[in-house]
Amino acid sequence: MPRRETKRGKERTPLSGRYDVVVCGASFAGLTVARQLAGSGARVLVLDRYEIGERQTSACGIPTEWLRAMGLEASARQEFGELVVHTPHGTSRYKLPWTFSTFDYRELCILLWEQADAEFETAKVNGRTGEKVHTDRGDVSAPLIVDALGWRRILASDGGYQPPDAPLSRGLEVHPHGGSDDLEIWIDRRYVPAGYGWRFPARDEQRIGVGSFDPRFHVKDTTNLLADDLEQPPERYQGNWIPHKLRSGTEDGTFFVGDSAGQCLPLTAEGIRTAFYFGIRLGDELRAVIAGRQGREAALRNYGEFVDAHEWKFRWMLRAQRLLPKLPAHVQRAMIRACGRKRFVDWAFGHYLRIAPPEAASLPRQVGGEREPLATADARVLRGEAEELPV
Ligand SMILES: Cc1cc2nc3c(=O)[nH]c(=O)nc-3n(C[C@H](O)[C@H](O)[C@H](O)COP(=O)(O)OP(=O)(O)OC[C@H]3O[C@@H](n4cnc5c(N)ncnc54)[C@H](O)[C@@H]3O)c2cc1C
Repeated sequence: MPRRETKRGKERTPLSGRYDVVVCGASFAGLTVARQLAGSGARVLVLDRYEIGERQTSACGIPTEWLRAMGLEASARQEFGELVVHTPHGTSRYKLPWTFSTFDYRELCILLWEQADAEFETAKVNGRTGEKVHTDRGDVSAPLIVDALGWRRILASDGGYQPPDAPLSRGLEVHPHGGSDDLEIWIDRRYVPAGYGWRFPARDEQRIGVGSFDPRFHVKDTTNLLADDLEQPPERYQGNWIPHKLRSGTEDGTFFVGDSAGQCLPLTAEGIRTAFYFGIRLGDELRAVIAGRQGREAALRNYGEFVDAHEWKFRWMLRAQRLLPKLPAHVQRAMIRACGRKRFVDWAFGHYLRIAPPEAASLPRQVGGEREPLATADARVLRGEAEELPV
């Protein structure tokens, strides 16, 4: 069992106060929003039920370029230029046009936090009424409230999602000690009828797991089976539900980011870089409110539209997620082999990266406004048609 560092007993003093921004959730999405507000002069409070970096929420694999763009390279553990795909009928090696890295969760969260100048408290968030956030240590308030609490979308008025009936996948992994060289995935019904298994080495540990697109399929037995097949002990479990449908970025005056807005990509279940990507935009919209360049309503509208503009990409990936597992195994294998051609891999992985491109982290700081829809402005900058965005 991981050691719990969260404040207990007498340390859990009552919490109160008024802030400019309350960010609920101190993982990838919430910490990114806080980082974007650094130096804005805003009084920002970040809340999480655990200390920063205490509870790993993922296998922590990300395109390396995103780590660099965010200044988080020091947390990297291992870098991969190839993806190894196993099926019951054979193994393919894809040479990737960009590299993928695993990182240490705690180190990455601490590095993100060092880029912020916010206050932090451990508290369990229970809900919200108007500008008040209710926690197990009391109420705090702010005109700008962010839900970065993960798939539960706790601050939503409808009470959030209930598995297994919601559009959620489920993932579970074990973390045996020891190294391994390859970034590997398994598309094999022995492990999961719809989904995939993985081994993500991270220098001195391996993250071996199974993700199922069908929330009713229990992944524990087959996670153990995969670990057993790899002759690794099934120890140090970590798992969660994973949203696979994009949701609205705003609701009833609250901002949602990361898994709480369903921003994890369907099919691949990659949700870290998208949490960074949308967190950057949300942080910049809030910053513009703090600076008096736009009102809260404009920030809600701009951020909501920015999220919505990505809906079709998420929809296509969800279609692929639903279709691919239905193909017979030998057809899957033939497709995987055919898709291994370098030109196709470069094209497909290039497009995939551009759904949430690392350049977004180094774009000039965004501000809301009426001049140009931000998604369009982004696209122009990323295509190289514009140097920077209109301010
Ligand atoms: C097994 C597994 C492996 C994965 N591997 C990868 C991967 O390799 N790469 C990738 O890109 N994605 C991966 N994902 C998906 C990725 O983990 C998520 O998309 C990502 O964590 C979303 O970030 P987030 O900040 O929105 O939410 P989270 O990381 O889930 O963070 C939510 C935060 O809110 C806090 N919180 C929750 N409820 C409360 C409450 N009531 N009060 C106070 N605090 C609360 C939590 O403690 C946590 O800190 C994986 C998911 C799983 C389940």
